[in-house]
Amino acid sequence: MKVSDTLPAHARIVIVGAGFAGIGTAIRLLQAGIDDFVVLERAADVGGTWRDNHYPGCQCDVPSNLYSFSFAPNPHWTRTFAPQAEIHEYLRRCAFEHGVVDHIHFGHGVVDATWVDEAAHWRLTTGRGEMTADVVVLGTGALSEPATPDFPGLDTFDGKTMHTAAWDHEYDLTEERVAVIGTGASAIQVVPEIQPMVDRLVVFQRTAPWIMPHPDRQVSSVERRLFKTMPWTQRLARNVTYWGRELYVLGFVHAPAVMHAAERISTAHMHQQVHDPALREKLTPNFSLGCKRVLLSNKWYPALSQDNVRVESGSIAEIRPRSIVTTDGNEHTVETIIFATGFHVTDHPIMWLVHGRGGRTLADCYRRGAYRGTTAAGFPNLFIMMGPNTGLGHSSMVFMMESQMTYLLDALRTMDRRKLAAVEPRTDVVERYNARLQERLADTVWMSGCSSWYLDDDGNNRTLWPGFTWQYRLETVRFDADAYELTPVHDPVAVPAAEGPDVSGTGCPPGEEEGASA
Ligand code: NAP
Repeated sequence: MKVSDTLPAHARIVIVGAGFAGIGTAIRLLQAGIDDFVVLERAADVGGTWRDNHYPGCQCDVPSNLYSFSFAPNPHWTRTFAPQAEIHEYLRRCAFEHGVVDHIHFGHGVVDATWVDEAAHWRLTTGRGEMTADVVVLGTGALSEPATPDFPGLDTFDGKTMHTAAWDHEYDLTEERVAVIGTGASAIQVVPEIQPMVDRLVVFQRTAPWIMPHPDRQVSSVERRLFKTMPWTQRLARNVTYWGRELYVLGFVHAPAVMHAAERISTAHMHQQVHDPALREKLTPNFSLGCKRVLLSNKWYPALSQDNVRVESGSIAEIRPRSIVTTDGNEHTVETIIFATGFHVTDHPIMWLVHGRGGRTLADCYRRGAYRGTTAAGFPNLFIMMGPNTGLGHSSMVFMMESQMTYLLDALRTMDRRKLAAVEPRTDVVERYNARLQERLADTVWMSGCSSWYLDDDGNNRTLWPGFTWQYRLETVRFDADAYELTPVHDPVAVPAAEGPDVSGTGCPPGEEEGASA
């Protein structure tokens, strides 16, 4: 798609990112009759994480009838869990068919977004220009910045390295000695695909994951015809999946002991597929199922059981020009290292590029959480799609994003109706909201002692929503202006909080700023 050079001087709304969140928000704005918006996209195509992650085997681990917009059903899915290429194509189609593409400025990575209090607007700087906006919607996603651990000696390695989120399809792995570092959702998909072609494969496993049987299957032509000719059948299938998945919350949140039953299924799955007792022992997880993301695969264990694969559970001490050395002295000669090491989630770089009132970065306030996972104290007119504590371990993020879109639209309507220049959640409200969230999270399986990307450096879960998704839907169905400081249009200087500890106008409680930024 075409990279653009010129930005308008101003738009009512700027959406940052053209992935699921950005495209969905743009469609909902257009459906609501709002077309004064711009989407700033750093790449030359839409799709976000589904554009960037195209490693062999990449596939959604949430059923696609649910992992799609409620307002744009897709009767063409070929599998119940769609492969990456189909999801990317779906997003491109949505962007074209709903007229979103005309609003996107490709090649415009945002390098700074600063709130200008006197003007009550945001000033956005991209690599190619500047513009202002009344409202900013961050659709930058949680899984958009690949994380590569800085192992000692990595810069001396003279073979090929690549991250799963930046796969080089030109590079031929045939007959190579390859290392895959990581055993998360990406690794379990890529390893079975590359194992048959490589000479030797060493899988560096820091933590053995729980793997459940994968219910993926082909969608029959009869089903597809039904979905196309009688769309209510696909809505029905979506609803059945949705409510079935909501039951998982009982195990994750309300009765983590329920997870023992799932652990038995996973263990039986491993016993069925791994016949070597020593390998089984290595692959046995040492934490409660659900504490990290539950993985689905019928191919992972068979791949690890092949003669050309070795699972290395020793920690990596050093990388040398042609090898990886573990702390217990094993040296593995490799020509290629594949990092399946995940993403910067709770330390996403965008947080240091967004400056709210008083110049604070979003990172300064982020670790105190957001309000309804969407707005942050100190950051007027900022809406964070997939913000803190909106993540899920059991269902579709698209459902959560759509809830946030509804909240945003009602906020915009409220601003119009009440002639407001700015809305910003009150610090006391944000604090109470997050204290309640952390209380609810305390007894969940996610806090049962494993380390995961759900937790920030302080051990707080700032990632997951601790409940049923319909509860979040109910919370976001209406913009609750009472929880906000409201700045009228005629007086664009921010009104201090009516109550609560923060009267500085920065949004962060006094005395807590030190050390909060990275
Ligand atoms: P991930 O789940 O964060 O896994 C990263 C892996 O790298 C883990 O095994 C981790 O070990 C390991 N690792 C990280 N740093 C390491 C280090 N310094 N030394 C050794 N090992 C290290 O990342 P991911 O697999 O890319 O998945 C991220 C998320 O993306 C998933 O949870 C999921 O939400 C999403 N995803 C979804 C799909 C899908 O099908 N929809 C597919 C891929 C990814 P530890 O476990 O010990 O930390």
